[in-house]
Amino acid sequence: MPAPEQKKIRIATTSLAGCFGCHMSLLDIDERLFALLEQVEFDRSPLTDIKHCGPCDIGLVEGGICNAENVHVLREFRNNCKILVAVGACAVTGGLPAQRNHLSLADCLQEVYVTEISLHNGMIPNDPELPLPLDKVHPLHEVVKVDYFIPGCPPSADTLWKFLTDLLTGRTPKLGADLIRYD
Ligand code: SF4
Repeated sequence: MPAPEQKKIRIATTSLAGCFGCHMSLLDIDERLFALLEQVEFDRSPLTDIKHCGPCDIGLVEGGICNAENVHVLREFRNNCKILVAVGACAVTGGLPAQRNHLSLADCLQEVYVTEISLHNGMIPNDPELPLPLDKVHPLHEVVKVDYFIPGCPPSADTLWKFLTDLLTGRTPKLGADLIRYD
């Protein structure tokens, strides 16, 4: 009788107020992706066509929180993922997008959509389908509990690989100084 197939670890990923650079860094593990895919399967992710996060072992979230939809998606991930990981500077601290925190949101929208010199009859978009922007950009842990933080903009492929292989083999992830960076 063939041995029963081992259940794969289920991983969801998303980009909130991110630039997809952290996802690109994950893809940078290159041929190690084949080894990874033997052990894991992907749930909701920009790499799949799954629209909502279901029950998962690990959720990897890049990007901070800049609008109402980000909050909704982050809560969906927290409710479904046993382990939630803030991946990259934006998720850990708000990152470069949080530089807008010292400006007024109203002034930013006015400048970009109305005052900008190349615009003619500009107006601030107000379609109800658009997610409302928040006054400030927030790191993930200000909205939900986060289990692990991986700094870096982005964290390197080697960092993400070490982190994931630690988790997949049941070890508490431990990143040496050579794998931690903040730029
Ligand atoms: S941490 Fe850097 S690479 Fe990752 S989403 Fe933010 S800006 Fe992009």
